Amino acid sequence: WLHFQECTGCTESLLRTSHPKVAELILDLVSLDYCETLFAAAGYQAEEALHAAMEQNAGKYICVIEGSIPVKENGIYCKIGGRTALDIVNDVASKAGALIAIGACASWGGVASADPNPTGATGAPEVLKGKTVVTIPGCPANPYNFLGVALQYATFGTLPALDDLGRPKFAYGRVIHEDCPRRPHFDAGRFVQQFGDEAHRLGYCLYKMGCKGPATHANCSIQRFGEVEAWPIGIGHPCVGCT
Ligand code: SF4
Repeated sequence: WLHFQECTGCTESLLRTSHPKVAELILDLVSLDYCETLFAAAGYQAEEALHAAMEQNAGKYICVIEGSIPVKENGIYCKIGGRTALDIVNDVASKAGALIAIGACASWGGVASADPNPTGATGAPEVLKGKTVVTIPGCPANPYNFLGVALQYATFGTLPALDDLGRPKFAYGRVIHEDCPRRPHFDAGRFVQQFGDEAHRLGYCLYKMGCKGPATHANCSIQRFGEVEAWPIGIGHPCVGCT
């Protein structure tokens, strides 16, 4: 699990899953051999674990990439253990069985790539051109979409059907608007006109507040991130299209 230019929000999101819980995931279902956030190890010990995992599981391991990769000036803007993110991702990906870019940053560049993008931040598919990189965009990504892909690969050695941007079709094949619980209000022309108005309190459609649900490919409206029912549209905020 490689961390580059990101906020660690995708890992934080994964830590809050309950089926499976993260303890069951990393102790019973997979072997998490390298992850800076969840490691007790640091420094040489951590780097040694990465190299050992790559050698012992060459061609079989899943390489998860979280965060964008800066490519300007040969990648000097992000270095770990004396190596650039660019060097690390190319090295680790070269022996991986599957590649998963989790979050908007690893998928497309995300916040770090916003104009004027001083570090040349970009997503993993751009750096690893020619390889199949599964993208799980979102800010953060829905951990269950990630687990669906990772555990399918761990169990069957296969990947789910992907669209032309590398997104699993089971999660990104429809737009949020299609399954939104506020959709009947949209169809009936009942819209929130400003935050806090009567329509807002009644849970009407947020389209006129700038909701991006009609153009956003994701399954947030039917698959929550954790056990709480809260999600942006559910608590009265328009979708910002983070995926
Ligand atoms: Fe569509 Fe957004 Fe309205 Fe939901 S709140 S019905 S996604 S426009």
